[in-house]
Amino acid sequence: MSVQSQEGLGLTEIVMAIPLHVPAVILTTAFAGVFGLVIGSFLSMVAVRVPVGASIVPGSRCPRCGAAIRPWHTIPVVSWLMLRGKCADCGEPISVRYPIIEAITGVVFMGVTWLVLTTSTVPVFATLAVLLAYLYLAAISVVLTVIDLDTHRLPNAIVLPSYIVAGVLLTLACVLGAPWEALLRAAIGGAILWAFYFAIRLIRPDGMGGGDVKLAGVLGAYLAWIGWGALAVGAFAAFVLGGIFGIALIIAQRAGRKTAIPFGPWMIAGAWVGIFVGEAFGSLYLGLYMAP
Ligand SMILES: [Zn+2]
Repeated sequence: MSVQSQEGLGLTEIVMAIPLHVPAVILTTAFAGVFGLVIGSFLSMVAVRVPVGASIVPGSRCPRCGAAIRPWHTIPVVSWLMLRGKCADCGEPISVRYPIIEAITGVVFMGVTWLVLTTSTVPVFATLAVLLAYLYLAAISVVLTVIDLDTHRLPNAIVLPSYIVAGVLLTLACVLGAPWEALLRAAIGGAILWAFYFAIRLIRPDGMGGGDVKLAGVLGAYLAWIGWGALAVGAFAAFVLGGIFGIALIIAQRAGRKTAIPFGPWMIAGAWVGIFVGEAFGSLYLGLYMAP
């Protein structure tokens, strides 16, 4: 498409000059944000109920007065603000973590959608399958971070099914036109990161939980699907982020050298660093990066 003259370009020509997919990407990203708010509301409930083995069927009651939460009081973020963080019936404070988890999930879903849609080189239906796979990763990232910070555990009930969900969605993406090499790479990457954490746990059983080892396989697969650079950066970034935080805690004298700091959130944060910048960074490091 060529724009011959900047002058005299009418609104219609300007609109026509925008590639068709740009409005679609913006619309889909906005929709993903709203979808993320709703999923975030579900995740904030999952984060409370899964560690205690309670049902995750939606519908909840005030823990103090037992009143059922009305459907119009379950609008993510908005309801909490309208109720000023209190139960509508008895005034019991509702934790600010609920709207925070909802808002974070909304923002993360938008970021993931934007990244996948603007970097995908595979057919549109394959792109949507990849998008679903990474939105699922975003969802478990949020909920596992909250649970690990709360309980120092990464529940099998969330981590183990993730192998199946990721496997099915990424296989579907290949059926729909994504390269099968990416799926093979994901399988190898998952095995590599799992083995790496398994080895660390053998050497230092007190330093790494079994949940961390199981999660490593999932994160390794997602990173390697994107590329080896993403896997390397994502794996490394977890230790850099966790290390910086651990040193900061020791300096602040909030933790001794033996204090157990959950590592899951750093593995997850590191993986997202790898997913977003790993390939560019890896290419840059290898001297292969070409500025456009
Ligand atoms: Zn109440």
